[in-house]
Amino acid sequence: MSVVKSSANNVDLEEEKKEIVRRYRKLLRRAKPFLKDNDAKIIKKAFNTSMDAHKDMRRKSGEPYIYHPLAVAQIAVEEIGLGTTSIVSALLHDVVEDTDATIEDMEREFGPKVATIIDGLTKISGVFEYGTSQQAENFRKMLLTLSEDVRVILIKLADRLHNMRTLESMPREKQLRTASETIYLYAPLAHRLGLYAIKSELEDLNLRYTEKDSYEAITKQIDVTKDARNKFIKSFIKPIQTALKNQEYQFEIKGRPKSIHSIWNKMKKQNIPFEEVYDLFAIRIILDIEPENEKTACWQVYSIVTDFYKPNPDRLRDWISTPKANGYESLHTTVMSKSGQWVEVQIRTERMDEIAEKGYAAHWKYKDNLKSQQSSLEQWISKVRDMLEQNNVSAIEFVDDFRSNLFTDEVFVFTPKGELKILPYGATALDFAFDIHTEVGAHCLGAKVNQKLVPINYTLKNGDQVEILTAPKQKPKEDWLRFVASSKARTKIKDALKESKRTAAKDGKEIVLRKLKQLKIEPTNDNFEKLRLYFNTETQLDFFYNVGKGIIAPSEIKKYKESKSDKVTPRQIKKVKDADTFKQELTKAKGKKQDILLIGEDMDIIDYKFAKCCNPIPGDDVFGFVTVTEGIKIHRTSCPNAPELLSNHGQRVVKAKWASKHQSSFLAGLGIIGTDRVGLISDVTKIISSELKVNMRSISIDTDTGIFEGNIQLYVNDTRHLDLLIDKLKKVKGVVKVNRFDSLEGNSLEE
Ligand code: MN
Repeated sequence: MSVVKSSANNVDLEEEKKEIVRRYRKLLRRAKPFLKDNDAKIIKKAFNTSMDAHKDMRRKSGEPYIYHPLAVAQIAVEEIGLGTTSIVSALLHDVVEDTDATIEDMEREFGPKVATIIDGLTKISGVFEYGTSQQAENFRKMLLTLSEDVRVILIKLADRLHNMRTLESMPREKQLRTASETIYLYAPLAHRLGLYAIKSELEDLNLRYTEKDSYEAITKQIDVTKDARNKFIKSFIKPIQTALKNQEYQFEIKGRPKSIHSIWNKMKKQNIPFEEVYDLFAIRIILDIEPENEKTACWQVYSIVTDFYKPNPDRLRDWISTPKANGYESLHTTVMSKSGQWVEVQIRTERMDEIAEKGYAAHWKYKDNLKSQQSSLEQWISKVRDMLEQNNVSAIEFVDDFRSNLFTDEVFVFTPKGELKILPYGATALDFAFDIHTEVGAHCLGAKVNQKLVPINYTLKNGDQVEILTAPKQKPKEDWLRFVASSKARTKIKDALKESKRTAAKDGKEIVLRKLKQLKIEPTNDNFEKLRLYFNTETQLDFFYNVGKGIIAPSEIKKYKESKSDKVTPRQIKKVKDADTFKQELTKAKGKKQDILLIGEDMDIIDYKFAKCCNPIPGDDVFGFVTVTEGIKIHRTSCPNAPELLSNHGQRVVKAKWASKHQSSFLAGLGIIGTDRVGLISDVTKIISSELKVNMRSISIDTDTGIFEGNIQLYVNDTRHLDLLIDKLKKVKGVVKVNRFDSLEGNSLEE
């Protein structure tokens, strides 16, 4: 947090002191019910230490700095439900960072637990150098502390929430940076820990700073429609209230609008105005009932509700029998009101409600009341620990994988023996295979889902019973990465690919060594480096790999010798200085006219490469991304990497668009899935080569499972040309699905 040291002009210091004491007392009042023995004394000591440490400091808003640790402690106790150790740690969270005090001092004064937590918090603060891996590295460190004490993360979230609440006084640039970091990492993390209220507030605050107009418009409309809504809610719940009272239930009914962020999301996703968002609010029925009768009671209430209103069978969610991984328990149904409007009704007990609002800490509190089985949240934390321990990838890659695991809902599926598996939403048969065992995943050919044969990229649905089919010769392929949603599967596939890359590189190196011997070139590191430069690969390993895979023919190494080997310039690559030379370069390279890509604010024509992850072709919506080593890379806006690049490295993104369309060919890839039948391949290839006169570069087909799976690489002129082709292929008998795939890399390297 930035601070300003000042002697505070024009401030009534006496009044300020009183206000500090008022805020401190408010904190104590809140904590009082659970304070034991010496607790009050320790909190007082922490408060005094913090006061002393921050005494001359002020926040950007001009307020005394101590307001911040006090507020963080208040959030920790009031909104997350944490106890004394956390209050003490929250009060002291910026002390080590901002003063001469050390972790050792903290340990001596406040004990080892507090010291560990402050240490964790200090490690993850510091300067977020935006757009570098520093930020990811910091986040990784934070997650590492999860295995020590989850309170580090909970206090960090409280810290972030207060900083977001007080973002107003920060400069615009800092506001945007903090807000996007919040939506990218902290809100999903809060969600995953089940801190629903904090997650919603973080999302709303993000919107307030990044989409100010939308935020204000929605806030205003919620307010304007308030009276009508309350009237509707009142008449909707009336019959339910009467029935519940007659059956002597203790209960409370709430009806409140959904978060601004979720309304905004709906408007954007479905492209509708505010008036058309039908589920602006949800009705919540909260029962006060003893734990052993919870489930029965909730279903009885469901029965009462649906006596009055007809339910939508597709929207029944039972998170009581199978709680979400973040601990959430509730029964949801959507029913039709008398005025023809769908209304979501959530039925839960007080215990479930507290877990839903406060998440992890509340879960803890109730743990003794529950059966001794390991809760799914604890399972999740132990999974995160596993991930951290085996992970040796770069920090950015790690955060990416981790984020994808944080998100939203799960899908519940079963093994052939009826064992329940919980996988991230969007998980495929391949994810399931890797969840069973790494070896099962690595040799996965396809699966039987509910007795029916499906390909490995089949997206699992709740309740599916899955049996994996394997074959010994099957092995992980690059494009498998696009078929998986779980970070476990992704990590395992990446490991396997790295391993096979190492093997190919080893073969390649032997070929290079033989060739160098023939050419009488010393196999020194210096010469390897020159070869790398000449063939323009990123690393020597890539160079050897390309030789091993036959992408660089051994005969080309001879050409390297013939060129002046002491003054090596990379082959092909020439820097483009202006538009004219650029056009000439392209004409030279392709021998014909070329589409031109315009890049940057002034839409200059500069040097660029197409990203291999999504292979743009003319007509695609694209953007440029400034890379560290390879100049500007062009990605499709629909590229799977686009959200990460745009949110995490916004300042490296440049505008790009196509200027003109000439007849020219671009490589694109198509995946075709169908039921195998005689003559299917010939029908498909006939359309491609004779009807549309498209040149194929490669085609690979797998029919092992009784399912036809083809990958075709071909040269097309633009998106219209490609769409036409896709349309035609879809009409071939037996073809179920045709889709363009993003990455060509993996496929072109497979034999
Ligand atoms: Mn702080």
